[in-house]
Amino acid sequence: MIAPDLDTAISRLRELIDDSQVIVPFTGAGISTECGIPDFRSPGGLWTRNQPIQFDDFLASQEMRDESWRRRFAMEESFAAAKPGRGHQALASLYRGGRIPGLVTQNIDNLHQASGFDAADVVELHGNTTYALCLDCDERYELAWVREKFESGQGRAPDCACGGYIKTATVSFGQAMPAEAMQRAEDLTRACELFLAIGTSLVVWPAAGFPLMAKRNGAALVIINREPTEFDELADLVVHNDIGDVLAPFITR
Ligand SMILES: [Zn+2]
Repeated sequence: MIAPDLDTAISRLRELIDDSQVIVPFTGAGISTECGIPDFRSPGGLWTRNQPIQFDDFLASQEMRDESWRRRFAMEESFAAAKPGRGHQALASLYRGGRIPGLVTQNIDNLHQASGFDAADVVELHGNTTYALCLDCDERYELAWVREKFESGQGRAPDCACGGYIKTATVSFGQAMPAEAMQRAEDLTRACELFLAIGTSLVVWPAAGFPLMAKRNGAALVIINREPTEFDELADLVVHNDIGDVLAPFITR
């Protein structure tokens, strides 16, 4: 069913939420756009104007590593200023209420953690851009530290003390999906009674696999996204209204 209007969307969503003890949200860029985080993949988004740097290229040259960090620091104002939106707050409310055991996200902006989710309960399929890791020894580096080295080194990206390359903790194009996160996402999906796909077009693999998996396991499926998705026909409820407007009534303090 495609909700004909906002009120119907909210009341139907409330029924589904009230009926479910185990709810697993799966979120994409759409939940963060009201927070000022650009949707990289959308038409006109950063990645259509700036070719993304492939993982192999990052490994292959200092120039690409420098460029990758230059781009990251150029976006820092948006990321540093971003605060959780209404969608994040609503999910955090349900989480506090004990009905969300974990959340799966394609986002790299850390806003679910900022809204109150324990980091251990956020499964990040594409990693996290708010800190960095050494690719060899996994040592964690804060962005402020990397930036200081980068700037004092005339725009040369610093390396780890072990000699490894330091990269934001994101999954780059051409980089393997994190196996543990994929497994946890699958486990959560199979265990839920209600699967909420929010702000994701469900096109990019592996995102596309999860709604189907949830549905086949008997969960109810809700899709809240501006644009239609190819899973709309399968869903118990489809909402094309603004995500913040739809989820705001579920925020509790
Ligand atoms: Zn290292």
